[in-house]
Amino acid sequence: MAVLPIITAPHPVLSARAREVQPHEFGAELEKLTSDMAETMYAAPGVGLAAPQVEDGRRVVVIDSSSGDERGTRLFRMVNPEITKRSKETIDWQETCLSVPDLEVWVQRANVITVEWQDAATGDKQSEQFEEYEAVIVQHELDHLEGTVLLDRVSTFKRGRWIRKMKKLKAPAYAK
Ligand SMILES: [Zn+2]
Repeated sequence: MAVLPIITAPHPVLSARAREVQPHEFGAELEKLTSDMAETMYAAPGVGLAAPQVEDGRRVVVIDSSSGDERGTRLFRMVNPEITKRSKETIDWQETCLSVPDLEVWVQRANVITVEWQDAATGDKQSEQFEEYEAVIVQHELDHLEGTVLLDRVSTFKRGRWIRKMKKLKAPAYAK
């Protein structure tokens, strides 16, 4: 396994719609990507990571809401995930993103969702219901697959201020 570099916004891969993983792509190599993504998420540390954040434009996410001694017990690796059911009841959460450091944004999400995805090794379909914090994480990661990051949810003013701040900090993404 390997810790992969996480790219920060604005970046074309983060803004693009990720593409579906094709049948011939399932197997050891895709499984390795999800392992590397999980290791990258744990190292950050974070509770979720989408493939575009490690510059891979495919529909792959990992999430793990667990913490402390439980860390690692709620790991889900999802390929081609899709929300098939969402509750009308919503939840407001102050979200952060590894690709948009130092920005917290209140986002309203569905409180309960059902997600279907494929297993990285076999392509087998899996399904699970997620609630509250985990539902928030999944919806945040699925936004990444649509090319949406937290920076797209704030005002032009706040966005400009954040970009200037990052330039000042000479974040790696701006060193080029
Ligand atoms: Zn994010």
